[in-house]
Amino acid sequence: MARRKLIAGNWKMHGIAGDLGEITRISMASETLSDIDTAICVPATLIERASEAAPGFVIGGQDVHAEPRGAFTGSISAAMLVDAGAETVIVGHSERREAFGETDAQVAAKAAAALAAGLDVIVCCGESLDVREAGNALETVGKQIVASLPGEIPEGKLSVAYEPIWAIGTGKVAGPDEIREMHAHLRGELGKARGETFANETKILYGGSVKGENAGDILHLDHVDGALVGGASLTADQFIPIMNAAA
Ligand code: PEP
Repeated sequence: MARRKLIAGNWKMHGIAGDLGEITRISMASETLSDIDTAICVPATLIERASEAAPGFVIGGQDVHAEPRGAFTGSISAAMLVDAGAETVIVGHSERREAFGETDAQVAAKAAAALAAGLDVIVCCGESLDVREAGNALETVGKQIVASLPGEIPEGKLSVAYEPIWAIGTGKVAGPDEIREMHAHLRGELGKARGETFANETKILYGGSVKGENAGDILHLDHVDGALVGGASLTADQFIPIMNAAA
């Protein structure tokens, strides 16, 4: 079965109530694109209102705690995300791995908690510039993603996002050969670790400075099943062309 493309936005620490009109516009545009999946992952403070501003459109969180409840000041559980209206969540974004020291095992535990609560999950992976320049990108990212996967993965609930750290928010996009090679490698590693069926059904998104101008070229590469989009997801004018390029 062909994998449907997923175009997911990551608002990071951007957005207040006054920005929700962008999500309404994105959601309305997505209604005409029945062949692709779309989502916007907003700050936790906006999940409920974004869901109300765009009924039927998938709203997600950007992180989740692995535990269901407890003394974890500032953290949010999977059940809380669901309660607020989220249907998906990003885990293991490189900004969290770097700034908060999240390990592969912690990312896997977060993904497990999210799946257990019924959320879809986007698990991020990607190499630093040093690793790429040392020629170790394939091996490093392959190991990273396999170690970041939870034990039980219900069918169709988990996507992988390959985001080279040096391409996030920098305007630098990985070249087509680099993207194709990494995505094919990751699918191979998923197959070795979890079997061919899982590898074939799992979407592998690309992330890193995707914009309307480059989306068409990236999204039609082999093994690229969509995009995780940061900066260009903040406005409908920038995000809609990316969705259109996937359709
Ligand atoms: C991201 O944050 O996941 C991302 C890919 O950001 P940007 O599109 O801004 O590079």
